[in-house]
Amino acid sequence: MADTVILSGIEASNALYDSLHTRIDTLKEKGVTPGLAAILVGENPASQIYVRNKTKKFDSLGLKSDIYRLSEDTKEEELLDLINKINNDDLFHGILVQLPLPKHIDSQKVIHAISPLKDVDGFHPENAGLVSIGNPRFIPCTPKGIMYVLKHFKIPIDGKHVVVVGRSNIVGRPVSVLSSLKSMGNATVTICHSGTPDLKEFTTQADIVVAAMGSAEFLDASFIKDGACLIDVGINRVERDGKSVIVGDVNEASVMGKASALTPVPKGIGPMTIAMLVENTVLSAELSTN
Ligand code: NDP
Repeated sequence: MADTVILSGIEASNALYDSLHTRIDTLKEKGVTPGLAAILVGENPASQIYVRNKTKKFDSLGLKSDIYRLSEDTKEEELLDLINKINNDDLFHGILVQLPLPKHIDSQKVIHAISPLKDVDGFHPENAGLVSIGNPRFIPCTPKGIMYVLKHFKIPIDGKHVVVVGRSNIVGRPVSVLSSLKSMGNATVTICHSGTPDLKEFTTQADIVVAAMGSAEFLDASFIKDGACLIDVGINRVERDGKSVIVGDVNEASVMGKASALTPVPKGIGPMTIAMLVENTVLSAELSTN
């Protein structure tokens, strides 16, 4: 049995932060401090933790981040007004609206309301379109983090077969587009979803599997070929020995020794997502000074 290399998101994100210091210093010399406005609507405990973790990183790097906490019963109109106000505030280069939003608010309308020039999550259709034509401005943070990890650990993508499990607009679809782009991955890509009749038929052919389905430890050794690289995006809370723990979409114990490399959960793609939010905000600040 060969060893499975653990692709640490902590190590890769630290490499990115190191490379950001010079860019941040250059902006500060011009009197610009990259700033993020994070909007949190309601009391969803997971969303509160995500927003706190994201903004903590901004603070530690000397960047600006403000959290706008709105009550669960906030009207859609009020949220749109706030976004419009921040769109026109030069102190903020990025706007993040933490999803999911309460049911009475139309998420698509909210995503459309964010200025595409401050859309550091990369969810606005203009930015999604730019990614799909191979000329990206803001790449969604999780897919961008996945591509960074592959590059950082020198996992070959060019000419390889990448199988993505999941087709959401925030993970599966953009990562499938990015890995197929000549400039970013140049891989042959298959995208699977809940309508794929025999998932194993595809995942067992993959050199790289990106698991973004949201199904706890679903992919075990029987789903992969020897030596495959596994990118585990899933964040699933499960009960284990009376304790609540986070696991991915990959059954780590099962694939050890069969996979050549694996991103762990936690400390894999999670920290990369935060790092790319910071990077996108720095990029937005840079674009605003050009
Ligand atoms: P979604 O629920 O939006 O999408 C899940 C996708 O997986 C869908 O396309 C769905 O198919 C597909 N799917 C579900 N079950 C199966 C199955 N049995 N076989 C094949 N395909 C399946 O989730 P997200 O993309 O938002 O997130 C995916 C996971 O990644 C979640 O666990 C989420 O928590 C995590 N996540 C982690 C992040 C991080 O920073 N690490 C960031 C964002 C998400 P269909 O389209 O047909 O429904």
